[in-house]
Amino acid sequence: MTLRGRNAVVTGGGRGIGAAIATVLAEKGAAVAVWDLDAEGAEKTVAAIEAAGGTAVAVVGDAADLDAVADAASLTQNELGPVTILVNNAGINAAEPFPIMSEDAWDRMIRINLKGPFLVTREFVSDMLAEGWGRIINISSSSAQTGAPGMAHYAASKGGVIGLTRALAMEFATKGITVNHVPPGFIDTPLTRATVNVGAVAASMPMQRAGSPEDIAHAVAYLASEEAGYVTGTTLSVNGGRYLI
Ligand code: NAP
Repeated sequence: MTLRGRNAVVTGGGRGIGAAIATVLAEKGAAVAVWDLDAEGAEKTVAAIEAAGGTAVAVVGDAADLDAVADAASLTQNELGPVTILVNNAGINAAEPFPIMSEDAWDRMIRINLKGPFLVTREFVSDMLAEGWGRIINISSSSAQTGAPGMAHYAASKGGVIGLTRALAMEFATKGITVNHVPPGFIDTPLTRATVNVGAVAASMPMQRAGSPEDIAHAVAYLASEEAGYVTGTTLSVNGGRYLI
Protein backbone atom coordinates (compact mmCIF):
# COMPACT_ATOMS: atom_id res chain seq x y z
CA MET A 1 0.00 0.00 0.00
CA THR A 2 1.38 3.42 -0.92
CA LEU A 3 0.12 6.98 -0.54
CA ARG A 4 2.96 8.39 -2.63
CA GLY A 5 1.89 11.42 -4.66
CA ARG A 6 -1.01 12.24 -2.33
CA ASN A 7 -1.37 15.31 -0.12
CA ALA A 8 -3.09 14.86 3.22
CA VAL A 9 -4.42 17.10 5.99
CA VAL A 10 -4.67 15.79 9.56
CA THR A 11 -6.43 18.10 12.01
CA GLY A 12 -5.29 17.93 15.62
CA GLY A 13 -2.04 16.39 14.39
CA GLY A 14 0.08 17.93 17.12
CA ARG A 15 -0.26 15.07 19.57
CA GLY A 16 -2.12 11.89 20.46
CA ILE A 17 -4.05 10.05 17.77
CA GLY A 18 -3.60 12.85 15.21
CA ALA A 19 0.19 12.82 15.53
CA ALA A 20 0.23 9.05 14.94
CA ILE A 21 -2.06 9.38 11.93
CA ALA A 22 0.12 12.10 10.39
CA THR A 23 3.24 10.00 11.00
CA VAL A 24 1.82 6.80 9.48
CA LEU A 25 0.38 8.60 6.42
CA ALA A 26 3.81 10.16 5.86
CA GLU A 27 5.50 6.76 6.28
CA LYS A 28 3.22 5.50 3.49
CA GLY A 29 4.44 8.34 1.25
CA ALA A 30 1.86 11.13 1.61
CA ALA A 31 2.93 14.75 2.08
CA VAL A 32 1.10 15.78 5.25
CA ALA A 33 -0.17 19.11 6.56
CA VAL A 34 -0.27 18.83 10.34
CA TRP A 35 -2.97 21.17 11.59
CA ASP A 36 -3.19 22.04 15.28
CA LEU A 37 -4.06 24.84 17.68
CA ASP A 38 -0.72 24.19 19.33
CA ALA A 39 2.24 25.36 17.20
CA GLU A 40 4.79 23.48 19.28
CA GLY A 41 2.89 20.19 18.94
CA ALA A 42 2.40 20.60 15.18
CA GLU A 43 6.08 21.43 14.68
CA LYS A 44 7.14 18.45 16.78
CA THR A 45 5.11 16.08 14.60
CA VAL A 46 6.53 17.68 11.45
CA ALA A 47 10.10 17.41 12.76
CA ALA A 48 9.62 13.69 13.50
CA ILE A 49 8.20 13.08 10.01
CA GLU A 50 11.04 14.99 8.35
CA ALA A 51 13.65 13.17 10.46
CA ALA A 52 12.26 9.91 9.09
CA GLY A 53 12.59 11.21 5.50
CA GLY A 54 8.97 12.27 4.99
CA THR A 55 7.36 15.53 3.88
CA ALA A 56 5.21 17.59 6.20
CA VAL A 57 4.21 21.14 7.01
CA ALA A 58 2.86 22.60 10.26
CA VAL A 59 -0.31 24.69 10.02
CA VAL A 60 -1.48 26.47 13.16
CA GLY A 61 -5.09 27.48 13.67
CA ASP A 62 -8.53 26.63 14.98
CA ALA A 63 -10.02 23.87 12.83
CA ALA A 64 -13.51 24.93 13.90
CA ASP A 65 -13.32 28.63 12.98
CA LEU A 66 -14.51 29.68 9.53
CA ASP A 67 -11.80 32.26 8.78
CA ALA A 68 -8.98 30.27 10.38
CA VAL A 69 -9.96 27.20 8.36
CA ALA A 70 -10.00 29.21 5.11
CA ASP A 71 -6.53 30.62 5.91
CA ALA A 72 -5.16 27.21 6.88
CA ALA A 73 -6.55 25.62 3.72
CA SER A 74 -4.94 28.30 1.49
CA LEU A 75 -1.62 27.92 3.26
CA THR A 76 -1.76 24.14 2.90
CA GLN A 77 -2.64 24.29 -0.81
CA ASN A 78 0.12 26.84 -1.45
CA GLU A 79 2.69 24.64 0.32
CA LEU A 80 1.61 21.20 -0.89
CA GLY A 81 -0.90 21.58 -3.74
CA PRO A 82 -4.40 20.07 -3.90
CA VAL A 83 -5.43 17.93 -0.93
CA THR A 84 -7.17 14.62 -1.58
CA ILE A 85 -6.83 12.91 1.81
CA LEU A 86 -8.50 14.58 4.77
CA VAL A 87 -8.56 13.23 8.32
CA ASN A 88 -10.91 15.14 10.62
CA ASN A 89 -9.35 14.18 13.95
CA ALA A 90 -9.26 17.35 16.08
CA GLY A 91 -11.68 17.07 18.95
CA ILE A 92 -12.28 17.70 22.61
CA ASN A 93 -13.87 15.70 25.38
CA ALA A 94 -15.35 16.52 28.77
CA ALA A 95 -17.55 14.92 31.41
CA GLU A 96 -20.44 16.94 32.83
CA PRO A 97 -23.67 15.69 34.41
CA PHE A 98 -26.55 16.43 32.04
CA PRO A 99 -28.78 18.33 34.53
CA ILE A 100 -26.09 21.01 34.98
CA MET A 101 -24.64 20.95 31.48
CA SER A 102 -24.31 24.58 30.35
CA GLU A 103 -25.29 25.91 26.95
CA ASP A 104 -21.70 27.13 26.51
CA ALA A 105 -20.31 23.64 27.14
CA TRP A 106 -22.80 22.15 24.67
CA ASP A 107 -22.05 24.76 21.99
CA ARG A 108 -18.27 24.42 22.37
CA MET A 109 -18.44 20.63 22.00
CA ILE A 110 -20.64 20.79 18.91
CA ARG A 111 -18.54 23.60 17.40
CA ILE A 112 -15.19 21.83 17.69
CA ASN A 113 -16.25 18.20 17.18
CA LEU A 114 -18.97 18.59 14.53
CA LYS A 115 -18.88 22.04 12.92
CA GLY A 116 -15.08 21.73 12.55
CA PRO A 117 -15.27 18.65 10.28
CA PHE A 118 -18.01 20.36 8.24
CA LEU A 119 -15.89 23.48 7.67
CA VAL A 120 -12.63 21.67 6.91
CA THR A 121 -14.27 19.12 4.61
CA ARG A 122 -16.02 21.86 2.65
CA GLU A 123 -12.64 23.52 2.01
CA PHE A 124 -11.10 20.44 0.39
CA VAL A 125 -13.99 18.77 -1.39
CA SER A 126 -13.39 20.95 -4.46
CA ASP A 127 -9.81 19.62 -4.72
CA MET A 128 -11.15 16.06 -4.54
CA LEU A 129 -13.92 16.68 -7.09
CA ALA A 130 -11.38 18.23 -9.47
CA GLU A 131 -9.13 15.19 -9.07
CA GLY A 132 -12.01 12.67 -9.27
CA TRP A 133 -10.44 11.01 -6.22
CA GLY A 134 -10.66 11.66 -2.51
CA ARG A 135 -10.57 10.08 0.92
CA ILE A 136 -12.33 11.66 3.89
CA ILE A 137 -11.84 9.90 7.21
CA ASN A 138 -13.61 11.19 10.29
CA ILE A 139 -12.53 10.23 13.79
CA SER A 140 -15.76 9.61 15.68
CA SER A 141 -15.98 7.73 18.98
CA SER A 142 -17.21 4.49 20.49
CA SER A 143 -19.04 6.75 22.97
CA ALA A 144 -21.51 7.59 20.18
CA GLN A 145 -22.05 3.86 19.56
CA THR A 146 -22.52 2.75 23.17
CA GLY A 147 -23.81 5.91 24.83
CA ALA A 148 -21.72 7.62 27.50
CA PRO A 149 -23.11 8.76 30.86
CA GLY A 150 -22.07 12.30 31.74
CA MET A 151 -20.98 12.98 28.16
CA ALA A 152 -24.22 13.77 26.34
CA HIS A 153 -22.69 16.69 24.42
CA TYR A 154 -19.66 14.61 23.39
CA ALA A 155 -21.71 11.58 22.32
CA ALA A 156 -24.14 13.83 20.42
CA SER A 157 -21.30 15.61 18.61
CA LYS A 158 -19.72 12.32 17.56
CA GLY A 159 -23.11 10.89 16.55
CA GLY A 160 -23.36 13.94 14.31
CA VAL A 161 -19.97 13.07 12.80
CA ILE A 162 -21.31 9.61 11.95
CA GLY A 163 -24.37 11.14 10.24
CA LEU A 164 -22.13 13.59 8.35
CA THR A 165 -19.96 10.67 7.20
CA ARG A 166 -22.91 8.71 5.83
CA ALA A 167 -24.53 11.70 4.13
CA LEU A 168 -21.30 12.71 2.36
CA ALA A 169 -20.55 9.09 1.40
CA MET A 170 -23.87 9.03 -0.48
CA GLU A 171 -23.44 12.53 -1.94
CA PHE A 172 -20.00 11.76 -3.41
CA ALA A 173 -20.41 8.06 -4.18
CA THR A 174 -20.18 8.60 -7.94
CA LYS A 175 -17.30 11.08 -7.70
CA GLY A 176 -14.40 8.85 -6.65
CA ILE A 177 -14.54 10.22 -3.11
CA THR A 178 -15.00 7.82 -0.19
CA VAL A 179 -16.09 8.98 3.26
CA ASN A 180 -15.71 6.71 6.29
CA HIS A 181 -15.34 7.03 10.04
CA VAL A 182 -13.16 5.37 12.65
CA PRO A 183 -14.56 5.26 16.18
CA PRO A 184 -11.67 4.69 18.58
CA GLY A 185 -12.33 2.72 21.73
CA PHE A 186 -10.16 3.57 24.72
CA ILE A 187 -6.83 4.94 23.47
CA ASP A 188 -3.95 6.06 25.66
CA THR A 189 -3.41 9.73 24.73
CA PRO A 190 -2.90 13.06 26.54
CA LEU A 191 -6.69 13.58 26.33
CA THR A 192 -7.52 10.34 28.15
CA ARG A 193 -4.70 10.87 30.67
CA ALA A 194 -6.19 14.26 31.51
CA THR A 195 -9.69 12.89 32.13
CA VAL A 196 -9.51 9.34 33.58
CA ASN A 197 -7.31 6.83 35.38
CA VAL A 198 -5.92 5.06 32.29
CA GLY A 199 -4.87 1.89 34.13
CA ALA A 200 -8.28 1.37 35.77
CA VAL A 201 -10.29 1.92 32.59
CA ALA A 202 -7.89 -0.20 30.53
CA ALA A 203 -8.38 -3.10 32.94
CA SER A 204 -12.13 -3.04 32.24
CA MET A 205 -11.64 -3.46 28.47
CA PRO A 206 -12.09 -6.92 26.86
CA MET A 207 -8.36 -6.99 26.00
CA GLN A 208 -7.55 -5.49 29.41
CA ARG A 209 -5.41 -2.81 27.83
CA ALA A 210 -5.80 0.57 26.17
CA GLY A 211 -5.26 0.93 22.44
CA SER A 212 -2.37 2.95 21.05
CA PRO A 213 -2.64 5.97 18.73
CA GLU A 214 -0.91 3.81 16.09
CA ASP A 215 -3.78 1.30 16.23
CA ILE A 216 -6.06 4.06 14.94
CA ALA A 217 -3.47 5.39 12.49
CA HIS A 218 -3.11 2.08 10.61
CA ALA A 219 -6.90 1.81 10.17
CA VAL A 220 -6.95 5.36 8.81
CA ALA A 221 -4.08 4.60 6.42
CA TYR A 222 -6.07 1.68 5.00
CA LEU A 223 -9.14 3.86 4.44
CA ALA A 224 -6.91 6.47 2.76
CA SER A 225 -5.46 3.94 0.34
CA GLU A 226 -6.27 3.03 -3.24
CA GLU A 227 -7.12 -0.45 -1.99
CA ALA A 228 -10.06 0.89 0.05
CA GLY A 229 -11.73 2.43 -3.01
CA TYR A 230 -14.91 0.34 -2.70
CA VAL A 231 -15.33 1.08 1.02
CA THR A 232 -17.54 4.06 1.76
CA GLY A 233 -20.02 5.23 4.39
CA THR A 234 -18.77 2.61 6.77
CA THR A 235 -17.58 2.26 10.34
CA LEU A 236 -14.14 0.81 10.97
CA SER A 237 -14.24 0.29 14.73
CA VAL A 238 -10.83 0.06 16.42
CA ASN A 239 -11.74 -0.67 19.99
CA GLY A 240 -10.23 -3.93 21.26
CA GLY A 241 -13.70 -5.47 21.48
CA ARG A 242 -15.31 -2.67 23.52
CA TYR A 243 -18.30 -2.49 21.16
CA LEU A 244 -19.10 -5.28 18.71
CA ILE A 245 -20.68 -4.36 15.39
P1 NAP B 1 -5.72 14.89 22.29
O1 NAP B 1 -4.61 14.11 22.90
O2 NAP B 1 -6.38 15.95 23.12
O3 NAP B 1 -5.21 15.56 20.94
C1 NAP B 1 -6.09 16.37 20.21
C2 NAP B 1 -5.31 17.42 19.46
O4 NAP B 1 -6.27 18.20 18.72
C3 NAP B 1 -4.57 18.39 20.40
O5 NAP B 1 -3.28 18.65 19.89
C4 NAP B 1 -5.44 19.63 20.35
O6 NAP B 1 -4.73 20.85 20.52
C5 NAP B 1 -5.99 19.57 18.95
N1 NAP B 1 -7.20 20.36 18.82
C6 NAP B 1 -8.27 20.38 19.65
N2 NAP B 1 -9.18 21.26 19.21
C7 NAP B 1 -8.68 21.80 18.06
C8 NAP B 1 -9.14 22.77 17.14
N3 NAP B 1 -10.33 23.37 17.31
N4 NAP B 1 -8.38 23.08 16.09
C9 NAP B 1 -7.16 22.49 15.91
N5 NAP B 1 -6.67 21.57 16.75
C10 NAP B 1 -7.42 21.23 17.81
O7 NAP B 1 -6.89 13.91 21.77
P2 NAP B 1 -6.85 12.39 21.24
O8 NAP B 1 -7.13 11.49 22.38
O9 NAP B 1 -5.66 12.18 20.39
O10 NAP B 1 -8.18 12.39 20.36
C11 NAP B 1 -8.17 12.63 18.97
C12 NAP B 1 -9.57 12.39 18.43
O11 NAP B 1 -9.98 11.05 18.73
C13 NAP B 1 -10.64 13.30 19.03
O12 NAP B 1 -11.58 13.68 18.03
C14 NAP B 1 -11.30 12.43 20.07
O13 NAP B 1 -12.64 12.79 20.35
C15 NAP B 1 -11.24 11.07 19.37
N6 NAP B 1 -11.33 9.94 20.31
C16 NAP B 1 -10.34 9.69 21.20
C17 NAP B 1 -10.45 8.59 22.06
C18 NAP B 1 -9.37 8.24 23.05
O14 NAP B 1 -9.55 7.26 23.78
N7 NAP B 1 -8.28 8.97 23.12
C19 NAP B 1 -11.59 7.79 22.02
C20 NAP B 1 -12.59 8.10 21.11
C21 NAP B 1 -12.45 9.17 20.25
P3 NAP B 1 -4.59 21.51 21.97
O15 NAP B 1 -3.78 20.54 22.77
O16 NAP B 1 -3.90 22.80 21.74
O17 NAP B 1 -5.99 21.65 22.48
